[in-house]
Amino acid sequence: MMNVTLANGIQMPVLGLGVWKTTEGAEVEEAVSFALNNGYRHIDTATLYRNEVGVGAGVRNSSIPRSDIFVTTKVWNDDQGYGNTLRAFDQSQRNLDIDYIDLYLVHWPVKGKYKESWRALERLYTEGRVKAIGVSNFLQHHLDDLLPSVEIRPMVNQLEHHPYLVQSSLQQYCKAQGIQFEAWSPLMQGGIFSIPLLETLSAKYGKSIAQIVLRWNVQNGIATIPKSVTPERIIENSQIFDFELDAADMQAIDQLDKGQRVGPDPDVFC
Ligand code: NAD
Repeated sequence: MMNVTLANGIQMPVLGLGVWKTTEGAEVEEAVSFALNNGYRHIDTATLYRNEVGVGAGVRNSSIPRSDIFVTTKVWNDDQGYGNTLRAFDQSQRNLDIDYIDLYLVHWPVKGKYKESWRALERLYTEGRVKAIGVSNFLQHHLDDLLPSVEIRPMVNQLEHHPYLVQSSLQQYCKAQGIQFEAWSPLMQGGIFSIPLLETLSAKYGKSIAQIVLRWNVQNGIATIPKSVTPERIIENSQIFDFELDAADMQAIDQLDKGQRVGPDPDVFC
């Protein structure tokens, strides 16, 4: 599994399993264990997903040592602010029960609160309770507002990213700031499968459409966390390290961009 190096030197596996809408209990537990036993080393959950307990069980039940696994969770919007975020982190730790959390994210830039939430993440990081900290759904203006007041800079920004929402300038901005860009809904929640160019590239490379898009992510240095609970698809989504898209095809996928979201717009949502 390929890693990206975060600004603090921590290695983050470039591919992870997303578990939004994966049901707490057996479903998430089995998906997580299956993914880990089949090459994944990174799991992306959140308090909102209400499946941290099963994620933790899946991690413990897998045959992979804890130190080889990277687990992300996030503070939900209702829990933001300094004290609330610290309490939410404690609850996530209890839910997961896996010794430590690798990456803790501010899930959305909740107006009037995200700076205080960030101060809590800085404390958790300084106290050594989490290996890396970051944000999610922060547009450039949110980062421009946050960064001047921070002591520790976000190491990751997790954003909606797929062929219809490329956000090139935000990608470049994050890169310039040393913030790792990570794609959520990389498969557009299933919406990529009818895009003609991707069908053509799938035939050209002998790879599935999902593999083409996930390869485009990792070749751009973008971490990616496709969701599936289906064993065949979990495996398929991980088989992206044995081929390379040529420069023209990489660019052609970038050019599919329509600025079209499948999830909420951060400026409207919070
Ligand atoms: P996704 O783009 O990963 O799409 C998932 C859907 O695609 C699933 O319903 C699955 O049925 C289908 N699928 C997966 N692999 C396939 C394959 N190989 N062939 C055909 N269909 C396939 O959507 P997502 O779950 O919204 O995003 C991925 C992860 O990102 C989430 O699970 C979550 O961890 C994270 N996320 C984060 C935020 C945030 O605000 N930070 C928001 C949404 C999602």
